[in-house]
Amino acid sequence: MRLQLSLSLLLASAGVVAAPIDERTVHAGDTELRIMVDAADHARADTLHRWLAEVAKAELAVSGRFPLASAQVRVEEIRSDDPSPVPWGQTSRRRNVAVLLYVRDDATLEELRSDWTAVHELAHLFHPYLGMRGRWLAEGLASYYQNVLRARIGLLSQEQAWQRLDAGFGRGRGAVTGIRLDELGRRGTMRVYWAGAAYWLEADLALRVRDSSLDAVLAEYARCCLQGTATVAPEAFVAELDRIADADVFSSLYQRYAAAREFPSLDAAYRQLGITTDDGRLRFSQQTAASRLRQAIMGRRSAN
Ligand SMILES: [Zn+2]
Repeated sequence: MRLQLSLSLLLASAGVVAAPIDERTVHAGDTELRIMVDAADHARADTLHRWLAEVAKAELAVSGRFPLASAQVRVEEIRSDDPSPVPWGQTSRRRNVAVLLYVRDDATLEELRSDWTAVHELAHLFHPYLGMRGRWLAEGLASYYQNVLRARIGLLSQEQAWQRLDAGFGRGRGAVTGIRLDELGRRGTMRVYWAGAAYWLEADLALRVRDSSLDAVLAEYARCCLQGTATVAPEAFVAELDRIADADVFSSLYQRYAAAREFPSLDAAYRQLGITTDDGRLRFSQQTAASRLRQAIMGRRSAN
């Protein structure tokens, strides 16, 4: 990144004009996502915008609108040997909310479409900043939705999405144990991400037996309460979600998860979903209630 900045400065001082930042806005109801692409030329900017229009659809697959009235996505290209087409992404919450994505300048559209980073970063817009104690909640939500939302818009098959969630849970189980989840902070990243994802899967399942869903609760939270640049204590966030759901789902699950020193058991969740594991491969029951439940979570959203 530093190299590229100095190159831009060099070009500017040599009188070479770089392509201007190409900004396009995706509107959804009363919300918008402003996408700014800093690419070498117009053709490359078009490619990056095609990719990001699809990523925006993933975010809309929760409720048909963006969680914030107006947020930005900024894309910078970098020269990198990193195997990932998007070596780095982060969300900035200063005066406004901006997702920053650093994209390898030789990454093809197909490589970008198969990467999870952009959908993960945009999923972070559904929650306020939750501090270090709430990091597992924040990373868990983004890790759950990075697979769910990609299945809903067809970037993954439903089976692939379940497989990736299950592989994530496997990595979480193999990570640091013996420390409370809310005290892990930046340590034990795999447990932070995937025990966090397990929390949101369990909450989603508990809501769906009440004819609600995580989508519905987060959509209402976005309408009533979400401030993208605010810091909210994790307990206050989950209490608000319970108020919206009119149930005690999030807070009691939160207490159990935050204090847990081991990866949670997902046996009951898998039974409910009709999923069994056989040597790392998932098998899906054809029983009606279980397949409807899986479909309700991962099924394609035709409206998008
Ligand atoms: Zn994240």
